[in-house]
Amino acid sequence: MNSPEERLAVATRQLLHTAAERATNYVLGIRDRRVAPQDSDIAALAGSPATMASTGGRYFGFVIGGTLPAVLAANWLAGAWDQNAALRVMSPVAAVLEDVALRWAYEALGLPADCEGGIVTGATAANFTALAAARQALLERQGWNAVADGLFGAPPIEMIVGAEVHASVLKALGLLGFGNRRITIVEADAQGRMRPEKLPHLRKPAIICIQAGNVNTGAFDPAGPICEAAKISRSWVHVDGAFGLWAAASPQYRHLVSGYANADSWATDAHKWLNVTYDCGLAITKHPAPLRTTMGMSAAYLATGAQREPMHQTPEASRRARGVELWAALKSLGSAGLAELVERSCAQARLFARQLEEAGFHILNEVVLNQVLVSFGSPERTQEVIRLVQQEGTCWCGSTVWQGKVAMRISVSSWATTDEDVDRSVAAMIRVARFCREV
Ligand SMILES: *Cc1c(COP(=O)(O)O)cnc(C)c1O
Repeated sequence: MNSPEERLAVATRQLLHTAAERATNYVLGIRDRRVAPQDSDIAALAGSPATMASTGGRYFGFVIGGTLPAVLAANWLAGAWDQNAALRVMSPVAAVLEDVALRWAYEALGLPADCEGGIVTGATAANFTALAAARQALLERQGWNAVADGLFGAPPIEMIVGAEVHASVLKALGLLGFGNRRITIVEADAQGRMRPEKLPHLRKPAIICIQAGNVNTGAFDPAGPICEAAKISRSWVHVDGAFGLWAAASPQYRHLVSGYANADSWATDAHKWLNVTYDCGLAITKHPAPLRTTMGMSAAYLATGAQREPMHQTPEASRRARGVELWAALKSLGSAGLAELVERSCAQARLFARQLEEAGFHILNEVVLNQVLVSFGSPERTQEVIRLVQQEGTCWCGSTVWQGKVAMRISVSSWATTDEDVDRSVAAMIRVARFCREV
């Protein structure tokens, strides 16, 4: 005993066990934890007390999602394996799990089985990746190769977005050399849906960006008529479906994504509503060739076979094996579990809306999915209520401005949220709002 190797093995075992023990205590204790950390914990760099308890059941800010237990376990193992998922030869198991998980994801999202996709860091990177393929495809049709010849002197392409487009799409278009000032913006309705009758008359192929799930209202652009209009001009329809696209997994909500399978590319997140650990997003297209042309990399030592190689669909080369966690999420939920997760979140969003409305507050959106916008009166009072709700610690919600109105935004996207979490959170909101009325 006590050789240096043995001492190292004992120390390593102890270190990893301690980390697992602490992580488990964190996960099991999160229900009793306040959601936002105290300033003093952050100042003291106090480890887990300084974290935002966003993986618990009462975090409703942005669209975040928690972590399914099976996914966290897979994440630990994947960390231990430390696989580089760039190429099949670097990690055959990472490549195979990625293939399987992507196929399951296409099926859950109601997309054609012969799509091709890449696993990236999130919907922003997925929007960028898919739109790079769109740019390549449309320019190639006009005899221009953007990868080889760049964009100087390239034929112009019209870019079309709805008035309530997510900022990440604008960022992606900017990165791709599509100046934001050149973008055509189509009017949206009161829920943020693009009005298809306001689409410009297209004489040449354009790139039309639509969204499944507006980040404020949860509303869906009408994909059916937009894809019809796009077909006539041979335009490319790209879908930003960061969270909303998962409605496809539920028989009850599937109608919301009607027509979306007719688009050309899709961006979605796994780290939001699918409750995969950060970070994980998917870029998917039914046109593999332009995706590989833009994202492929060639060098003698990267020579590959006939099978799909993970790095040739994504901006990255070396990358962690995100497919392991995606696989674990879809495997542990199954299609019934995924449908139940979507349906439960939507029912809890309606529960929030009903209880807040009964308490006399104003719901600003049609609650069609998992997003709720609530006003507590004047803009100043609404901001003050949001600030105090965050400080009080029972739950956490952020603020937004929806078509000129300040609102608190509630996003229900965690598997861990129970109806009791909703009740406790509404009670805290009402308590805080009453207190605000009195000051
Ligand atoms: C969150 C979100 C994005 C950006 O996703 P990231 O994962 O943060 O990159 C894009 N579009 C919509 C609609 C979103 O909700």
